[in-house]
Amino acid sequence: MWNIKGHDWAVESLRSAIIYDRVGHAWLFTGPPKVGRTHLARLFAQALNCESEYPENRPCGVCRKCKLIASGRHPDLILVEPITGNRGNETLKIEQIRELQQDLNRTAMEGPYKIAIISRFDAATPGAANAFLKTLEEPPPNVILILTASESDALLPTINSRCRSIGLRPVPLETIKDHLISDLGVPTEKATVLAHLANGRMGWAIEAAESETALADYQAQTEQLSAILKMGKVDRFKLAEKLSSNAEQLHHLLRTWLGWWRDALILSNGQDDLSQIINVHDIDNLNDVVGRLSSEKIAQNLNQTDQSLTWLDQNANVRLLVENLLISF
Ligand SMILES: [Zn+2]
Repeated sequence: MWNIKGHDWAVESLRSAIIYDRVGHAWLFTGPPKVGRTHLARLFAQALNCESEYPENRPCGVCRKCKLIASGRHPDLILVEPITGNRGNETLKIEQIRELQQDLNRTAMEGPYKIAIISRFDAATPGAANAFLKTLEEPPPNVILILTASESDALLPTINSRCRSIGLRPVPLETIKDHLISDLGVPTEKATVLAHLANGRMGWAIEAAESETALADYQAQTEQLSAILKMGKVDRFKLAEKLSSNAEQLHHLLRTWLGWWRDALILSNGQDDLSQIINVHDIDNLNDVVGRLSSEKIAQNLNQTDQSLTWLDQNANVRLLVENLLISF
């Protein structure tokens, strides 16, 4: 009943922890965002509190507790997520950790475990991380903490060393494509495009397959970039003004462009293995740019986009940042 694809090794580790009763109180699931970290954490929570009498059958998926956890209504499962700011950046605040600590100190209502999933812990402020350290050092009885983060290096070593780490790798393209086609009924052509765009992130692929607009929105973002490359300076300045009025969207837009320039660089270096390319839906525009720009220029555009994302997170002037980027292309 571990209803998750592409993370067999991680599932086996968690299963054996349960079967051999060596669960420990703190876990860290690492991997790229939307690869399936929180989904796996929920399944683990189900397995921990499942009522099946055979440990190897947990989570059974059908008992009361499994069902409550699946629907997000189990009173002993707490999910803490960072708060998104107006630039699309995320922060996990000390107040959230304090509130969590109060919750954890209350006795479990259903048991046996009270479980907290703290998602994207790399967004924790230093204050929040330090406050949380206390809970890791002296957890209340029967509490299990599951953190998720992009990479363990992003966390304080004192936090890292107290957690058992499970690293989730990007899911292979074919596994994502098969899942979309066979289990979700996505048409083959759309599944192929989404599996490439997902770039190993199964959670992203599933969300995009279920959304009516995600794919069209994404394609609009890459088309906009191709259009910019054909624009003169005046139009680029005008567009910069428009784009900078929506700083929250900008984050997504720049991430999409970053992937597109990365593809262009791969093609420019003579790689013709399409499984490496994220934006297969836009292969004509990519090839067009590769024919017109040198590898050096493409690498420069990639770096400039990456730098702009960093500046955006560092509260730089958004208008200047976007103007600077669009003119540099
Ligand atoms: Zn169960």
